[in-house]
Amino acid sequence: MKDFLIVGSGLAGLSVARHLEFKNASFDIISDTTQQSSRIAGGIINPVAVKRMKPAWQVEEYLPYAKTFYQSINNAFQEEIYSRKILNVFVHDIEQENNWYQAYDKARLKSFISSQVFKNKNQNLNIGKIGKIKAGIIHLTTLYQCLKHHYQKQWVSETFKHDKLEINESYLTYQNVSYKHIVFCEGFGVTQNPFFNHLGIYGNKGDYLIFKSKALQIKELYKAKYFLIPLSKDLYKFGATYQRKPLNHEPSNEARSQMMEALDNMISVPYKIVRQVCGIRPTTKDRRPVVGTHKKHKNIHILNGFGSRGVMTSPKLGQKLVKHILTDEKLDPEISIRRFDAQI
Ligand SMILES: Cc1cc2nc3c(=O)[nH]c(=O)nc-3n(C[C@H](O)[C@H](O)[C@H](O)COP(=O)(O)OP(=O)(O)OC[C@H]3O[C@@H](n4cnc5c(N)ncnc54)[C@H](O)[C@@H]3O)c2cc1C
Repeated sequence: MKDFLIVGSGLAGLSVARHLEFKNASFDIISDTTQQSSRIAGGIINPVAVKRMKPAWQVEEYLPYAKTFYQSINNAFQEEIYSRKILNVFVHDIEQENNWYQAYDKARLKSFISSQVFKNKNQNLNIGKIGKIKAGIIHLTTLYQCLKHHYQKQWVSETFKHDKLEINESYLTYQNVSYKHIVFCEGFGVTQNPFFNHLGIYGNKGDYLIFKSKALQIKELYKAKYFLIPLSKDLYKFGATYQRKPLNHEPSNEARSQMMEALDNMISVPYKIVRQVCGIRPTTKDRRPVVGTHKKHKNIHILNGFGSRGVMTSPKLGQKLVKHILTDEKLDPEISIRRFDAQI
C-alpha cells in the first residue's frame, strides 16, 4: 500500500507532493490538463494589496516560507524558478500619491514599498509617477517541468474518475492500487468532485495577452490597470482580466479588446500580439483557501481555493495540510474546511 494519491498537479498538488517527499511518504500523482491556472498564471509574488495599500493576507507568515521553498527548488534542480523583481505601480493622482506616503509610515509595509514616489523616466511607457514594491516572480513553466520530471515514476497523466474510488475505513483503492490517503488539488475542477461540491468554490476566468516588442526593453514588472510582465526574447505578458462568465478555456474577445485598449494607453512603442492564454481561478466566497479533511471520510483531503496569491501561499499551506494529516496538527479556522461543515 502507498501512503498518498494526489489528484492535480497545479501549485497546490506540487506543494503537497514536495512536502510529502520531505517526510519520506510514498505517493502517486494523477493529473490531467483540464485546468490551466498554474500553467498560465503571471507567477507574481506581490506582498502588497495595491488597491487598498495594505499588506497581503498573512504576508509575514507566507512570504518568507514561499521564498525558502522556491529557492530550495532553484538549488535542487539548478534552474531559475524564483527571481526577485521590482514591481513598479502606476500612481495616478495626488490622492494615490498621498496614500502611498501614508502606507510607507505603516510598520507592516515599510520593508516592502519605496519611501518615495518617482517620476517615470522610461520613454516607452506612458506613465507619470510610480511607486516601487519589492516583489518576485516564479517561473511556473520551469517549476512544473522540473517537478514533473522529478516525479516521473509516480506521475500518471489522466483524468481521475471519482466514481471509481473505493473507500474503506482505513484505506482507499483506485485502479487496483491502495492508498492510505487521497488529497484533491483540482483547482476549479473541484466543481466536478462529489466529495467537495458543498464548498461553493466558483470560477473567475482570467486572460493574458502575450506580445512581442523589440523596442520596449523592460526588465522590471509594471502595473497600471493590468500587469506588464517581461518574459524572455522580447516577449511580454499583459493582463489579467476577471470574468465570471463564460467559464471556458476559450480566449475571450471581450478580454482581448479590454487589454489591447489598456496596452495601447500604457506603451508607446510598436508591438505584435503573439498569443492569448486563459485560466480559471478557483475562488471561495471569503477569499480564503480551503485546507483539511472531509467531514465523514477521514482519509480524503483537500487543498484548494487559491483564487489569488496561490504562488505565495500554496507552499506553506501544502506544508500545513501534510502536517495536519500526518501529525494531526490543528488548522487555523480561517483556512480550515470545517468552516463549510454547515453546508453539507
Ligand atoms: C490569469 C490568471 C493569472 C494569475 N496570476 C497569478 C499571479 O500572478 N500570482 C498568483 O499568486 N496567483 C495568480 N493566479 C492564481 C493562481 O494561478 C492560482 O492560485 C493557482 O494556480 C491555483 O492552483 P491549483 O493547483 O489550486 O489549481 P490548478 O492550477 O487549476 O491545478 C489543478 C490541476 O488539477 C487537474 N485536475 C482537475 N481535475 C482533475 C481530475 N478529475 N483528474 C485529474 N486531474 C484533474 C487540472 O487539470 C490541473 O492540472 C492567477 C490565475 C489566473 C487564472
